[in-house]
Amino acid sequence: MRLRGGTLLVATHNSGKLREIADLLAPFGIETKSAAELRLPEPEETGATFEENAILKARAAAEVSGLVSLADDSGLCVTALDGAPGIYSARWAGPQKDFSAGISRIRRELQEKNVADFSAKFVCVLALASPDCETETYEGEVHGRVEFPPRGTRGFGYDPIFVPEGLGQTFGELEPAQKHAMSHRARAFEKFLAATGLSNLSEP
Ligand code: IMP
Repeated sequence: MRLRGGTLLVATHNSGKLREIADLLAPFGIETKSAAELRLPEPEETGATFEENAILKARAAAEVSGLVSLADDSGLCVTALDGAPGIYSARWAGPQKDFSAGISRIRRELQEKNVADFSAKFVCVLALASPDCETETYEGEVHGRVEFPPRGTRGFGYDPIFVPEGLGQTFGELEPAQKHAMSHRARAFEKFLAATGLSNLSEP
Protein backbone atom coordinates (compact mmCIF):
# COMPACT_ATOMS: atom_id res chain seq x y z
CA MET A 1 0.00 0.00 0.00
CA ARG A 2 1.66 3.28 -1.06
CA LEU A 3 1.32 6.18 1.36
CA ARG A 4 1.69 9.78 0.22
CA GLY A 5 1.07 12.37 2.90
CA GLY A 6 -2.29 12.56 4.65
CA THR A 7 -3.02 11.57 8.21
CA LEU A 8 -2.06 8.22 9.64
CA LEU A 9 -3.97 6.92 12.63
CA VAL A 10 -1.75 5.05 15.07
CA ALA A 11 -4.25 2.56 16.45
CA THR A 12 -2.94 2.04 19.96
CA HIS A 13 -3.89 3.06 23.49
CA ASN A 14 -0.46 2.01 24.81
CA SER A 15 1.56 5.17 25.49
CA GLY A 16 4.90 3.30 25.31
CA LYS A 17 4.16 1.94 21.84
CA LEU A 18 2.77 5.28 20.70
CA ARG A 19 5.94 7.11 21.79
CA GLU A 20 8.15 4.62 19.93
CA ILE A 21 6.03 4.65 16.74
CA ALA A 22 5.96 8.48 16.81
CA ASP A 23 9.80 8.50 17.13
CA LEU A 24 10.11 6.07 14.22
CA LEU A 25 7.69 8.12 12.05
CA ALA A 26 9.24 11.49 12.96
CA PRO A 27 11.64 11.73 9.99
CA PHE A 28 8.82 11.25 7.47
CA GLY A 29 6.75 14.34 8.26
CA ILE A 30 3.48 12.40 8.40
CA GLU A 31 0.66 13.82 10.45
CA THR A 32 -0.41 11.25 13.03
CA LYS A 33 -3.39 10.89 15.31
CA SER A 34 -3.70 8.28 18.02
CA ALA A 35 -6.64 6.06 18.91
CA ALA A 36 -6.63 7.49 22.44
CA GLU A 37 -6.70 11.08 21.07
CA LEU A 38 -9.75 10.24 18.91
CA ARG A 39 -11.30 8.35 21.86
CA LEU A 40 -11.72 5.22 19.77
CA PRO A 41 -12.84 2.10 21.61
CA GLU A 42 -10.16 -0.51 22.34
CA PRO A 43 -11.20 -3.68 20.48
CA GLU A 44 -10.98 -7.00 22.29
CA GLU A 45 -7.92 -8.97 21.16
CA THR A 46 -9.62 -12.21 20.17
CA GLY A 47 -7.00 -13.36 17.63
CA ALA A 48 -4.81 -16.43 18.14
CA THR A 49 -1.67 -14.83 16.69
CA PHE A 50 0.13 -11.47 16.74
CA GLU A 51 -0.87 -11.04 13.10
CA GLU A 52 -4.58 -11.66 13.70
CA ASN A 53 -4.65 -9.22 16.61
CA ALA A 54 -2.75 -6.53 14.70
CA ILE A 55 -5.18 -6.82 11.74
CA LEU A 56 -8.21 -6.75 14.04
CA LYS A 57 -6.98 -3.52 15.70
CA ALA A 58 -5.98 -1.78 12.45
CA ARG A 59 -9.27 -2.63 10.70
CA ALA A 60 -11.42 -1.59 13.65
CA ALA A 61 -9.65 1.79 13.80
CA ALA A 62 -9.79 2.37 10.03
CA GLU A 63 -13.51 1.55 9.87
CA VAL A 64 -14.47 3.87 12.72
CA SER A 65 -12.17 6.76 11.80
CA GLY A 66 -12.13 6.61 7.99
CA LEU A 67 -8.33 7.04 8.21
CA VAL A 68 -5.52 4.74 7.11
CA SER A 69 -4.59 3.06 10.40
CA LEU A 70 -1.44 1.41 11.72
CA ALA A 71 -1.73 -1.05 14.61
CA ASP A 72 0.95 -2.90 16.56
CA ASP A 73 0.54 -6.26 18.23
CA SER A 74 3.61 -7.36 20.07
CA GLY A 75 4.91 -9.32 23.01
CA LEU A 76 7.67 -11.19 24.74
CA CYS A 77 8.06 -14.93 23.99
CA VAL A 78 10.14 -16.93 26.49
CA THR A 79 11.45 -20.19 25.03
CA ALA A 80 11.32 -22.26 28.25
CA LEU A 81 7.71 -21.11 28.81
CA ASP A 82 6.69 -22.44 25.38
CA GLY A 83 6.57 -18.90 23.98
CA ALA A 84 4.52 -17.38 26.84
CA PRO A 85 3.45 -14.74 27.58
CA GLY A 86 3.46 -14.09 23.77
CA ILE A 87 0.14 -12.64 22.62
CA TYR A 88 -0.90 -12.51 26.29
CA SER A 89 1.96 -10.17 27.27
CA ALA A 90 -0.35 -7.26 28.07
CA ARG A 91 -2.81 -9.54 29.87
CA TRP A 92 -0.08 -10.99 32.16
CA ALA A 93 0.24 -7.46 33.55
CA GLY A 94 -3.39 -7.62 34.73
CA PRO A 95 -6.18 -5.06 34.41
CA GLN A 96 -4.03 -2.46 36.20
CA LYS A 97 -1.34 -2.92 33.48
CA ASP A 98 1.18 -3.55 36.25
CA PHE A 99 4.21 -4.88 34.41
CA SER A 100 6.06 -5.69 37.62
CA ALA A 101 3.33 -8.35 38.10
CA GLY A 102 3.93 -9.71 34.57
CA ILE A 103 7.69 -9.72 35.17
CA SER A 104 7.30 -11.51 38.52
CA ARG A 105 5.11 -14.15 36.91
CA ILE A 106 7.75 -14.86 34.23
CA ARG A 107 10.41 -15.13 36.95
CA ARG A 108 8.24 -17.40 39.09
CA GLU A 109 7.28 -19.72 36.21
CA LEU A 110 10.95 -20.01 35.14
CA GLN A 111 11.96 -20.84 38.73
CA GLU A 112 9.23 -23.50 38.94
CA LYS A 113 10.53 -25.10 35.75
CA ASN A 114 14.07 -24.94 37.14
CA VAL A 115 15.60 -24.46 33.67
CA ALA A 116 18.88 -22.84 32.65
CA ASP A 117 17.48 -21.61 29.32
CA PHE A 118 16.53 -17.95 29.67
CA SER A 119 16.38 -17.26 25.94
CA ALA A 120 13.51 -15.09 24.71
CA LYS A 121 12.46 -12.90 21.83
CA PHE A 122 10.31 -9.85 21.32
CA VAL A 123 7.94 -10.05 18.34
CA CYS A 124 6.07 -7.19 16.70
CA VAL A 125 3.52 -7.35 13.90
CA LEU A 126 2.41 -4.03 12.43
CA ALA A 127 -0.82 -4.01 10.42
CA LEU A 128 -1.78 -1.21 8.05
CA ALA A 129 -5.44 -0.99 7.06
CA SER A 130 -7.22 1.43 4.75
CA PRO A 131 -10.87 2.39 5.36
CA ASP A 132 -11.87 0.12 2.44
CA CYS A 133 -10.25 -2.80 4.31
CA GLU A 134 -7.09 -3.21 2.24
CA THR A 135 -4.67 -4.65 4.82
CA GLU A 136 -0.94 -5.44 4.96
CA THR A 137 1.25 -6.75 7.79
CA TYR A 138 4.97 -6.41 8.56
CA GLU A 139 6.79 -8.54 11.16
CA GLY A 140 9.95 -7.95 13.19
CA GLU A 141 11.75 -9.93 15.91
CA VAL A 142 14.71 -9.40 18.21
CA HIS A 143 16.35 -12.32 19.98
CA GLY A 144 17.96 -12.24 23.41
CA ARG A 145 17.34 -13.44 26.95
CA VAL A 146 15.53 -12.44 30.11
CA GLU A 147 17.51 -11.45 33.21
CA PHE A 148 16.41 -10.81 36.80
CA PRO A 149 16.07 -8.59 38.75
CA PRO A 150 14.70 -5.99 36.29
CA ARG A 151 17.12 -3.16 35.38
CA GLY A 152 16.58 0.28 33.87
CA THR A 153 13.77 2.79 33.87
CA ARG A 154 13.62 3.64 30.18
CA GLY A 155 11.19 2.01 27.78
CA PHE A 156 8.03 0.25 28.93
CA GLY A 157 6.47 -3.15 29.60
CA TYR A 158 9.03 -5.97 29.78
CA ASP A 159 12.00 -3.79 28.69
CA PRO A 160 13.71 -3.98 32.13
CA ILE A 161 14.23 -7.78 31.86
CA PHE A 162 15.09 -8.16 28.15
CA VAL A 163 18.77 -8.22 27.12
CA PRO A 164 19.22 -8.34 23.33
CA GLU A 165 21.81 -10.72 21.87
CA GLY A 166 25.31 -9.25 21.88
CA LEU A 167 24.58 -6.63 24.55
CA GLY A 168 24.86 -6.61 28.36
CA GLN A 169 22.20 -3.98 28.99
CA THR A 170 18.45 -4.44 29.16
CA PHE A 171 16.14 -2.54 26.80
CA GLY A 172 15.16 -0.59 29.93
CA GLU A 173 18.76 0.66 30.27
CA LEU A 174 19.33 1.59 26.61
CA GLU A 175 18.89 5.07 25.16
CA PRO A 176 15.71 5.17 23.01
CA ALA A 177 17.85 5.57 19.86
CA GLN A 178 19.80 2.38 20.72
CA LYS A 179 16.55 0.43 21.15
CA HIS A 180 15.22 1.85 17.85
CA ALA A 181 18.37 0.62 16.08
CA MET A 182 17.55 -3.03 16.81
CA SER A 183 14.08 -3.53 18.25
CA HIS A 184 11.37 -5.86 16.98
CA ARG A 185 9.22 -2.75 16.37
CA ALA A 186 11.97 -0.99 14.39
CA ARG A 187 12.50 -4.12 12.26
CA ALA A 188 8.79 -4.37 11.45
CA PHE A 189 8.82 -0.63 10.82
CA GLU A 190 11.60 -0.94 8.21
CA LYS A 191 9.37 -3.34 6.25
CA PHE A 192 6.41 -0.96 6.62
CA LEU A 193 8.54 1.92 5.25
CA ALA A 194 9.71 -0.10 2.26
CA ALA A 195 6.19 -1.34 1.41
CA THR A 196 4.58 2.08 1.67
CA GLY A 197 7.32 3.95 -0.20
CA LEU A 198 7.88 6.21 2.80
CA SER A 199 11.57 5.28 3.07
CA ASN A 200 12.20 7.14 -0.21
CA LEU A 201 10.76 10.31 1.28
CA SER A 202 13.68 10.59 3.72
CA GLU A 203 16.24 10.67 0.89
CA PRO A 204 17.59 14.12 -0.02
P1 IMP B 1 -0.58 -5.76 22.89
O1 IMP B 1 0.20 -5.74 21.59
O2 IMP B 1 -1.48 -4.58 23.03
O3 IMP B 1 -1.24 -7.07 23.11
O4 IMP B 1 0.45 -5.55 24.06
C1 IMP B 1 1.75 -5.99 23.92
C2 IMP B 1 2.45 -6.03 25.26
O5 IMP B 1 3.73 -6.65 25.03
C3 IMP B 1 2.76 -4.66 25.79
O6 IMP B 1 1.78 -4.19 26.66
C4 IMP B 1 4.07 -4.93 26.53
O7 IMP B 1 3.80 -5.53 27.73
C5 IMP B 1 4.75 -5.98 25.70
N1 IMP B 1 5.66 -5.34 24.75
C6 IMP B 1 5.52 -5.22 23.42
N2 IMP B 1 6.54 -4.55 22.89
C7 IMP B 1 7.34 -4.23 23.92
C8 IMP B 1 8.57 -3.52 23.99
O8 IMP B 1 9.13 -2.99 23.02
N3 IMP B 1 9.09 -3.43 25.22
C9 IMP B 1 8.52 -3.96 26.33
N4 IMP B 1 7.38 -4.63 26.32
C10 IMP B 1 6.79 -4.76 25.11
